[in-house]
Amino acid sequence: MTLAIGIIVFLTGLSIGSFLNVVILRIDNLQSILTERSQCPKCKKIINWYDLIPFLSFMLLKAKCRFCNEKISWQYPIVEVGTAFLFLFLFLTLGLSWGLVFYVIVFSLLTVLFVYDLKTETVPEVLVWIALGLAVLGGWYYGHFGLSSMLLGALIGGGPLALLVYVSKERWMGVGDIKIGLILGVLCGYPRSVVAMFSAFVIGSVVGIIYLLLTDKKVSQKGLKKSLPFAPFIILATLIGITYGDRILHWYLGFLS
Ligand SMILES: [Zn+2]
Repeated sequence: MTLAIGIIVFLTGLSIGSFLNVVILRIDNLQSILTERSQCPKCKKIINWYDLIPFLSFMLLKAKCRFCNEKISWQYPIVEVGTAFLFLFLFLTLGLSWGLVFYVIVFSLLTVLFVYDLKTETVPEVLVWIALGLAVLGGWYYGHFGLSSMLLGALIGGGPLALLVYVSKERWMGVGDIKIGLILGVLCGYPRSVVAMFSAFVIGSVVGIIYLLLTDKKVSQKGLKKSLPFAPFIILATLIGITYGDRILHWYLGFLS
């Protein structure tokens, strides 16, 4: 039974991932999702339905447009498969419940922010506010913690980032990151937000160091200061906080005593 539901959840994730790709692409004109069909950005030909099957079409087309051979970005299959695994992971850790539906919706929004930040190093304001609103509405209810825990969580999620933004005059981090930090805090509550924020900084540092090592030559040649977008790490840490936050905390406290 679990296997059957798991497969349905995975396939749903694939399709939603495909939809999220469209949202990321048309974020400045979301209405067009309802009125305009997908077309090749180069030759402008309308893409057939059988070339829009998540993941499968990309593989069959060998990452090229059927008409003009324009390359199709790897972003499409990666987001589709990533969303599918995200949904499956949430299902396996949270079980089948209304809470699962809530977190699936919130993390779909966060996936858009994740990819958008990686692509552009900015986060779309409207979606951040929607995600924050949703987090406030449902985080407390589905997270099963009190209002004070939510407020304290928000302080832990937003506080340190606000300080970093203030101290660095927005060079290290942007105001958008503070808002994503607030989403983390509200969704995780206290004390899970402590685990989540700690995870964000640890993952961010490790990836940052690897990134610097790999791109060292390029950076020094061009003399560019390469910064990493931080929002993706906060979003990843939120996922850790909600699914494994309690377990990590218990483990750590047991480790101390
Ligand atoms: Zn084309």
